[in-house]
Amino acid sequence: MTSLYEILEVETTATPSEIKKAYRKLALRYHPDKVTEEDREFAESKFKEISHAYEILIDEGKKEHYDTYGTTDQNGGAPGDFAGNPFDNFYGGGAGGEYGADDFYNFFNNMNGGGPSHSRQRPPNKTEDAEIDVEVTLEDLFKGKVIRTTSTRNIICTHCKGSGAKKSAVLKKCGVCEGEGHVRKIRRVGPGLVTQEYVTCSTCEGTGSIYRTKDRCKKCTGTKVIEETKILEFDIVKGSKSGDTIVLPKESDQFPGKETGDVKLTFTCKDHAVFTRKGDDLYAKFKIPLFDALCGFSQVVVKHLDGRGIKISTPPGKVIRPGDYIKIKNEGMPVKDAPKSWFGGSGAKRGDLYIEVDIEFPRDNWYLEKNDILKMKNLLPNELQSKHDIKKQTIDGDSLPEANIDTITEFTIAKADALPDYAEDKPAPEYNDDHYHEDAYGSAQPECQQQ
Ligand SMILES: [Zn+2]
Ligand SMILES: [Zn+2]
Repeated sequence: MTSLYEILEVETTATPSEIKKAYRKLALRYHPDKVTEEDREFAESKFKEISHAYEILIDEGKKEHYDTYGTTDQNGGAPGDFAGNPFDNFYGGGAGGEYGADDFYNFFNNMNGGGPSHSRQRPPNKTEDAEIDVEVTLEDLFKGKVIRTTSTRNIICTHCKGSGAKKSAVLKKCGVCEGEGHVRKIRRVGPGLVTQEYVTCSTCEGTGSIYRTKDRCKKCTGTKVIEETKILEFDIVKGSKSGDTIVLPKESDQFPGKETGDVKLTFTCKDHAVFTRKGDDLYAKFKIPLFDALCGFSQVVVKHLDGRGIKISTPPGKVIRPGDYIKIKNEGMPVKDAPKSWFGGSGAKRGDLYIEVDIEFPRDNWYLEKNDILKMKNLLPNELQSKHDIKKQTIDGDSLPEANIDTITEFTIAKADALPDYAEDKPAPEYNDDHYHEDAYGSAQPECQQQ
């Protein structure tokens, strides 16, 4: 949460005149009347924030309270923390837009034909969910993993059962809410339009009754809740995906009269040095020299996520070509929630493993003597194998006299990933329907229209 000092961009030791100066400077910058239309919404919220910070910090009493408790709420809550309590956020935390006058309430009732409405909008009655983010490795997702965290949360006080008062305490009806536990608030929703909402009474904290300070429960000092520390276990099952969330229901803070929120753990997978995951399949790269591609090889190509070496032994005569992948069935990731096989077996379905083969061709001038070339010529096919390809590429010598042929020896090799970037290759913009008009024959033609 940004502190009020940070909002005003002043030191915590700032004097009232420095605070005033800082406020004036920022208020001028963000005044909604001084910005363009598109910046207005941002400026308005910024302006409110600055004004609120100034109101507190310029008031000696409020400033002292804020410095001591880190909050602007005299009752000890945290209304400024919009991210913390969805309730505060939703109801605006008291900032602007609220019309407390009874006139508005009457106006509202008249609009609805009089009498209190029964379709009351109640505040969200659940404590906030706790969210945890962790990073896991691909090995974790392959083998499965249990993550344990220490959780410290509020639980309902075991001594007073959440009343906050001693058993002997004398309870009095709360005068502010007439014992209802909630109060009406009128909120402006548009020009001339208001709506009523019910918010928890802050005097009795929604219980409808109050008691004397000395009757507070000793264990929770009247806060109704106590801290509990426990270990939470999140079971990441084999084959889970990066970004999945595990929900432990009702493990967040407890509060009397509220449903308990959940604890949610979201895990993201770190990049792996060897494997890339696509769906339930795994991809890895392996580089071989040209000789191996032509004559075969037998080699451990990858260390799997469970530590096993995966050795590939190519069958005699097998040629690996540029762009080839070696596919090994059932060596990918375990499939999460895969239905068990009917035919017994382990029932553990798995994706596949793809080894992308990168063939390294020899360097320029790789041969030692000219004779090597002749040997190669005898060994390797030196003509295209498809008659069709040969025919397609043969240029009729008769129609092209020797004098008309240029021999090029000065050229460079351009790599595929280093070719020029052609910006104009972007797809052409599509025509909107209203740029077309149907002619008598029903065919659509773009209409030439200058804007
Ligand atoms: Zn208690
Ligand atoms: Zn009350």
